[in-house]
Amino acid sequence: MATLLPGGRAKVRGSRDPFGPRVVSGELQCEARMTCQRCLQPVTMTLEGSVRWGLVFSETEMQSLDKQLDPILIEEGQLLLRQAIEDELVLLLPIMPMHDSCDSGWIPDPEPGDVSEKESPFAVLASLKNEQGS
Ligand SMILES: [Zn+2]
Repeated sequence: MATLLPGGRAKVRGSRDPFGPRVVSGELQCEARMTCQRCLQPVTMTLEGSVRWGLVFSETEMQSLDKQLDPILIEEGQLLLRQAIEDELVLLLPIMPMHDSCDSGWIPDPEPGDVSEKESPFAVLASLKNEQGS
């Protein structure tokens, strides 16, 4: 699970082509608290992304919208900007959040099947053979 931390920034600006849709574009930046998938300690990930939304007022408008734009449906005359930003940030969450370097005492799992030369039963067998042969 991820928690979006307060203090994120969203710089959005609206523009309008007289013959086109209203467009809201901008940059989003927010930090999210997640769990490191390597050491399982909390990790803060910085989410950054840019948005280009086309505001539409009906399903029909949504279908005719420029494919370069992400449609945002205006419901009851309200642009739910906060909701739209949060939805966008959730999409930016990494699937495998990790620290750049885990400094909380993470120890790698030992290599499976790594038997040292000394403990190898074959090495013991070999030394017995040598003793018999001489
Ligand atoms: Zn970690």
